[in-house]
Amino acid sequence: MAAATAHRDRDDLDAALARLLFDFIEPQRVTVWRVLDVAGEPRVQRRISLARDGTELGPEEVADPAELPRARDSLHWRECVMLHDVVHFESADGGLRSLFPLRGEANVLGMIEIEAGEGLNPRQASLVGGILRIIRNHVLLLDYGERDTLTGLLNRKTFEASFGKLRQRAAQGGEPAWIGIVDIDRFKSINDSFGHLFGDEVLLLVSRLMRESFRGADQLFRFGGEEFVIVLERASEEGAAIAFNRLRAAVADYAFPQVGRVTVSLGYARVLPADAPASAIGRADAALYYAKQNGRDQVQGYDALLAAGLLQRKAERSEVELF
Ligand code: GH3
Ligand code: MG
Ligand code: MG
Repeated sequence: MAAATAHRDRDDLDAALARLLFDFIEPQRVTVWRVLDVAGEPRVQRRISLARDGTELGPEEVADPAELPRARDSLHWRECVMLHDVVHFESADGGLRSLFPLRGEANVLGMIEIEAGEGLNPRQASLVGGILRIIRNHVLLLDYGERDTLTGLLNRKTFEASFGKLRQRAAQGGEPAWIGIVDIDRFKSINDSFGHLFGDEVLLLVSRLMRESFRGADQLFRFGGEEFVIVLERASEEGAAIAFNRLRAAVADYAFPQVGRVTVSLGYARVLPADAPASAIGRADAALYYAKQNGRDQVQGYDALLAAGLLQRKAERSEVELF
């Protein structure tokens, strides 16, 4: 238990949880599933699966989360995810399986599937339930420290903590990762004209438009004040520019109560293999600054501005200077 709750990283936590249940119950197989909300539709992704014969499967990778199977397409998944209930069932090969929901604040965040030939006895089932309640408390506490209280988006600290893994994944080849910085245009005048309460309402609505404009696997952060950061992984430059512009247009088209029209400017940059968080942010910020200087309500990419001679290359800063 101590080892499992020592992890802050969700991938490590999934692996430690699978290992813990495996050692405790000694079943045929333990699988940790994560439940993702993809455009309002719960989808299921395998995170890790350990079997008694020694085989170990890692995360199920898909290019687009919309390719993941839907929870409602399996009777057992549906019951577990929709009713938040433990489900016991017989698999096609006659073995007995149990699916335990990992409950979040209001929804099911994941499922633990245990395949144990004869099925779990009541003692084992209640033991697993107890372990999952402790894990749930741990996950909710992690969430509390990782998220911004106003918008529920991830916070800046989380961005910095997750950047190393992002860079690692980006260095594995394939399509690159992108960082976009969004800054609300003339936000000070919204506060000045309508008051902070309306300012906060605008922040909340912009964060909702962000959630609606990007995919479930894209990471959305509130960086502080009226600045947001978006991380897109495995995207072409064209795809990233389209996604960022989709957000810009969604904000520009939205009728904000009382306040009316609000726009955002966005600068983005590619994540490079040797980046420190502040270097990647610095390049995206340079593109954002250009957008601000040249009319606002627009999306600018660092590489394109550089190629067009509209920006000077930013001197690379080393990690040593930053920390
Ligand atoms: P620009 O288009 O150049 O970005 O103009 P701006 O007015 O948005 O830029 P500036 O950085 O001068 O103003 C940001 C303002 O955001 C200043 C501050 O009063 C306000 N602000 C920062 N955090 C919050 C918050 O949490 N709630 C509210 N209501 N206002 C905030
Ligand atoms: Mg600002
Ligand atoms: Mg601003």
